[in-house]
Amino acid sequence: MDSEIEVRLLAITPNSEELIEKAGRLCYASEDKLGTKKGWLQARIKEGHESLIEHASATFYIRASRALTHELVRHRLGSYSQRSQRYVKETEPQFITPPEILEHPGALDIFNEAMRASWASYQALLDSGVKPEIARYALPNACVTQIICTWNFREIRHIIKLRTSPRALPEMRTVALKIKEIMKAQAPSVFEDL
Ligand SMILES: Cc1cc2nc3c(=O)[nH]c(=O)nc-3n(C[C@H](O)[C@H](O)[C@H](O)COP(=O)(O)OP(=O)(O)OC[C@H]3O[C@@H](n4cnc5c(N)ncnc54)[C@H](O)[C@@H]3O)c2cc1C
Repeated sequence: MDSEIEVRLLAITPNSEELIEKAGRLCYASEDKLGTKKGWLQARIKEGHESLIEHASATFYIRASRALTHELVRHRLGSYSQRSQRYVKETEPQFITPPEILEHPGALDIFNEAMRASWASYQALLDSGVKPEIARYALPNACVTQIICTWNFREIRHIIKLRTSPRALPEMRTVALKIKEIMKAQAPSVFEDL
């Protein structure tokens, strides 16, 4: 079954912008000016005083391919919980079809046949008594997975910058653009320049 990518915000530090500014104002003993100057946080970010934005974090639910999550968890300054292919059977074929496949005549049929064959082999291995953790070696990178990720705002800015670039994996770009849209709405003073 062809599946959709999903990105959902699950949790975020309450009053994150105020908290970050409070931390910054403490550094310069200017707490009395809290909330008085538009662009104050952006100025701190621009000058490289980025540890301030580590005080706030956000947690996302992401449903995407295993190809994507393999890259996503390379971001080391994060916490991750991912659906297990060792303890959960992937008996229902759920996979991401990259839209780029459609740009090449005949490629979709080849791709769909690979998905069918992968899951047929997976099921046959399970039926023969092989454990899910071993049978999963027959599953494709396109297999859908679910992951919950927590990052601080500094890491989220880093991920957005790196993963919305034209050099990033297209599926990753889709996810990173959605994260960017969410964060710009949630904490504009931290993310408005991106
Ligand atoms: C377009 C693209 C192509 C890529 N191609 C490949 C590839 O072919 N093969 C491959 O293996 N990977 C590849 N990667 C992954 C890449 O090398 C990084 O592992 C990944 O992007 C995580 O980024 P990061 O290390 O900057 O950030 P994070 O792990 O998110 O860390 C954030 C920042 O913290 C600092 N930091 C974290 N850990 C350390 C440390 N140990 N020492 C010093 N500073 C640290 C760095 O400043 C880092 O930028 C690619 C990434 C992109 C975006």
